[in-house]
Amino acid sequence: MSTRPAYDNENIFAKILRGEMPAHKVYEDDRAFVFLDIFPRAPGHALVIPKAPARNIFDITPEDLAHVAKVAQTVAHAAIEAYDADGITVIQSNEKAGGQEVFHLHVHVIPRYEGQRLKPPASEMETPEVLAGQAAKLRTALGQ
Ligand code: 5GP
Repeated sequence: MSTRPAYDNENIFAKILRGEMPAHKVYEDDRAFVFLDIFPRAPGHALVIPKAPARNIFDITPEDLAHVAKVAQTVAHAAIEAYDADGITVIQSNEKAGGQEVFHLHVHVIPRYEGQRLKPPASEMETPEVLAGQAAKLRTALGQ
């Protein structure tokens, strides 16, 4: 890619960070925000994002990327406990060709169970009631 696309302040995750769109929040600190994916690829699918306006791996600062990775690890530990999962899949996609659909950097933290495949992306929207219950479980495991 010769010229890197600019960060778009109107992307969905920027709106969630500004409180302009609802989200099932799980955790927040000064540099990161965690909420549940509305189209979960498995139950309890969480997204970890930086508060800084980074499009993806190509423009985030190393410090913010390291912090997001640290929070993703904490969420992975909590998700194993909260959902009694057998494993965790961590995904981070960059640019359209890399599978990125929302252009604010995010790390997917997805609970996994033996023999259970991931659902395709954006295949089924979860209900607010189910997401609220899952978010509460994860917050408890995180000590929030
Ligand atoms: P990507 O494909 O860019 O790696 O992942 C974007 C993710 O954002 C997808 O898993 C998709 O389900 C999720 N997503 C898209 N729109 C919304 C939304 O409005 N709210 C939430 N919580 N997740 C969203």
